[in-house]
Amino acid sequence: MMSNSSQQRVPAPPRIKPEIRLRARAVSRGATIGRAVLLHGARIQFFRIDLKETEVAAEIARFRVALDRSLRQLSRLLNDGKGVAHSAEGIFDTHRLILSDAALAPKIEASIATQRVNAEWAVKSVMDSYSTRYKSIADEHLRERYIDLDDISDRLLRALGGAAGTVELEKGSIIIAKELTPSTLMEFSRRWPTGLITEHGGWTSHTFILAREINIPAVTGLKKAIQRFSSGDTVVVDGYNGLVVINPNDETLAKYRVAAAQFQEVATDDPTSTDSPLKTLDGRRVVIRSNSDLPQYHKRAMRFGAEGVGLYRSEILFNHFKGHPTEVQQFNAYKEIADAAGDDGVRIRTFDIGLSQLNENDTDRERNPALGLRAIRLGLAYPKYLRTQIRSLLRASAGRKIDIIIPMVSGLAEIRAFKAEYDRERIALIEKKTEIGDPRIGAMIEIPSSVLLIRSILKEVDLICLGTNDLVQYLTAVDRDNESVASWFRTLHPAVIQAVGTVISAAADAGKQAVVCGEMAGSPFYTPILIGLGATDLSMNANSISRVRRVIAGLAFDEARELMKKVEECKTSEDIETELTSAILSRWQHLYPANFRRSRKI
Ligand code: PEP
Ligand code: MG
Repeated sequence: MMSNSSQQRVPAPPRIKPEIRLRARAVSRGATIGRAVLLHGARIQFFRIDLKETEVAAEIARFRVALDRSLRQLSRLLNDGKGVAHSAEGIFDTHRLILSDAALAPKIEASIATQRVNAEWAVKSVMDSYSTRYKSIADEHLRERYIDLDDISDRLLRALGGAAGTVELEKGSIIIAKELTPSTLMEFSRRWPTGLITEHGGWTSHTFILAREINIPAVTGLKKAIQRFSSGDTVVVDGYNGLVVINPNDETLAKYRVAAAQFQEVATDDPTSTDSPLKTLDGRRVVIRSNSDLPQYHKRAMRFGAEGVGLYRSEILFNHFKGHPTEVQQFNAYKEIADAAGDDGVRIRTFDIGLSQLNENDTDRERNPALGLRAIRLGLAYPKYLRTQIRSLLRASAGRKIDIIIPMVSGLAEIRAFKAEYDRERIALIEKKTEIGDPRIGAMIEIPSSVLLIRSILKEVDLICLGTNDLVQYLTAVDRDNESVASWFRTLHPAVIQAVGTVISAAADAGKQAVVCGEMAGSPFYTPILIGLGATDLSMNANSISRVRRVIAGLAFDEARELMKKVEECKTSEDIETELTSAILSRWQHLYPANFRRSRKI
């Protein structure tokens, strides 16, 4: 029998963390294994970074620079009467007082030094503790101040440089965030994360559109996402089945190592032959274009058979240039994407941004930005910016095939107002003998009123682009970025199908090009419906092209028409989904992967 003391000497077995499996919604295909990296914050996102003792002094100095920059910004806003409404003066003065409070900076610096954390984390924790105190104050006026504290905290965080300003992601990082903004994701372009897990965000939110473009498996809808992980946890993201595994056991790891390797193979795989023009089985010609924001993305899409760029979201330049791009920057970017597209051309959409992206100081934060001053409305309200963009586009289109697409058109008024600005700039450039081209002008059809007016709109423009993401959002009044209404975002809503059919038929009658460029076009699940509705021009990210091509080449237009006759009888989204699924299973199953039922949309 062993003595007590010898029993105590037996080393305790290493604590094995139990495997945890969590269901989530798959929004970008693929499987991956990596290490959890927690991303905090909402509008401004940042990591908690543990510092070495030797790094503390530099971090405090970095904070002081940011504090100084924030105070200078506020003084500028106060002195510059032009940019600030009278009522805003008081607000900025309060912000300046709070920021220069003798106790605030030492508290943040103490937090950096004692906890040995980065400045972002220290700012957030100190400001949060202030905010908690304000929220519990009985006086309503004082209590409201905590809203100011959030603003001040954002200003300091912005001055510190944002998430990627301080950190280079390690290879194999899986980002976990409440919500991930597209601009934060773009900031990691030096080294992309290997997977994404978020609490919020819809299938058509720009973050996940981008994730699909760059092949990062992603899931969303995981409640209390941040709280469930510890930094450095081993995590599996299964973006086929909507599953997250924390601390996978050996068996799970082995299974997902194979799945991750297969995903990598598919992601880098050379496409099957794209030599002959794409046609349905019964010979109907269909063109596939790419939704590409960078020339290299389009070049890759061309290998899969993309014929030109169907949608270039020009607002991406705000991310590349960290603010409003100059005329020269725009001119060069448009030239490069048009050169990549060649004779098949590029459809460049003018900036589809909201007021907060234009106005960094965010004095006029909108309650409902999706219905606010965004896209062409913003361009017309700030013509200086619209004119700069028009000039860059006109100049870049000399000798290149560029179409200009107007976003968020609700009727003829915006098109006519846009054309007035366009003519003005065109004439001015001609007078200056500047070399320009002759772009076609098109409209995004993504607002219900533009569907109702489609026949008049088609008389005013040369082509249209059908934005199904916003069309579903506005037609059914469902915020496309809001996870809590994600189940209401129904691409197969009978009203959506009817609207898409109306637009495609009207364009065909008018003999004008209609490019379907929302995410619906890039999902093979919806392909039989779009083909059945008469679509012949689809635009999608590079990674969707092979799968959609395969379905188009394997079905007959007549069969898709037959399916549509049944769909037209359906009264609900569920009925349409059942009809479509059973048609796929009975006629076209061989064109779809075995797991298509679970990850239909992506
Ligand atoms: C759309 O709305 O469908 C679209 C293509 O544009 P975005 O996703 O940029 O709004
Ligand atoms: Mg849109």
